[in-house]
Amino acid sequence: MGGTLTKVDIGHGRGWLAPAPAASLRRIDAQLGRLADINEAGRSPEQANKNRAKWLAYERYLNGGPWAPKAPYALGADESVHCWGYAADTDDSYDARASAVWLDNGWVQTALYPNNLAKHEPWHREYREDLDNHKNEAGGGTSAPNVPKEITVKHYSRQDATAKASSRTLAPGAGFYLHTKTGVAVSQATNVVGGVGPYSVTPHVYAEGNPGDVLEVVLCWQDEKTKPKPAQSRHYVERLVIDKDGHVRASREFKRAVAAGFAVYLHLSAPKTNTGPVKVTRLDCDAYLFTAA
Ligand SMILES: [Zn+2]
Repeated sequence: MGGTLTKVDIGHGRGWLAPAPAASLRRIDAQLGRLADINEAGRSPEQANKNRAKWLAYERYLNGGPWAPKAPYALGADESVHCWGYAADTDDSYDARASAVWLDNGWVQTALYPNNLAKHEPWHREYREDLDNHKNEAGGGTSAPNVPKEITVKHYSRQDATAKASSRTLAPGAGFYLHTKTGVAVSQATNVVGGVGPYSVTPHVYAEGNPGDVLEVVLCWQDEKTKPKPAQSRHYVERLVIDKDGHVRASREFKRAVAAGFAVYLHLSAPKTNTGPVKVTRLDCDAYLFTAA
C-alpha cells in the first residue's frame, strides 16, 4: 500500500487511525453517547511483524509442531489493516447495540471464522468508507477534536522515569508515586494535570509478577493550599490483577474535575497480601482537560 500514512490521534489514550476512519470513530463516539471501546487501533509495522511471528509459531504447534504459546491470528505489516490505520479491535462487538452502531458507520467484522476458533476474532473490525452510512455527516473533519467546536482539549502526558529506565520492584505492601525524574524518594510525586476544569485521566500500567497478585491504582487530589499538612482525597481507579502468564497491561480512564489550587498525583501500590514482588516496567498517565474556548 503506497502513499503517505497520516496518523490522527483518536483521543483518550486510544491510539491513532487514518483520517477517514478517525472521523468515523468520532461519529461513533457521539452516536454511542460515550467513548467507543478500543483495545487497539493503528499498529506499528514492528508490532505487526512480532504478532505475526507469534501466530505462525502457534499455528505450527496446532499442526503438530513444537509447543508455542497461544496467540491470536495476525497478519504481518505488509498485510495488516491495523498498520494502515483502517482497523480497530473493540469489545463493543460483544454489545449488540454498540456493534450495530459500528456496522452502520462502515466498520465490518472481517475476521469471523466461527468454524475455526483459533482465527475467530469478533472484536476485529475494518473501516469501509463505501459502507459508511454517516460519511457525509458533520463531526467528520480530519483533525477536529472529538468534542463540540467551542470546547478545546489540552493534553498532559507524564511518564514515571524510573519504571521506564530500570523498572521498579514493589514488595508486598510497597508503593510509589509517578515521578518524571529518576532518583527521587517514593513519597515524591509529579502533578499529572495542569489547568483547572473537567478532566479525563488515564493511567497506563505494565507489570510482571505472580499470577493473581494485585496492583492498586489510585489518583490523589491534593489541596496544595492546606499547609503544613495537605489534605488529600484518594480516588481508587482500579485493582489490577496479574494474569496467568504473569503480566498485566492496563489502561483505565477516570473522569473528575480539578479545582484551583489542586494537584493530582498517581499512586501505584502492591497490597500486603501479594505473594511476591511485582516488577513495574511502565507507569504513564494521559490527562485531557476540556475547556470552553
Ligand atoms: Zn485486529
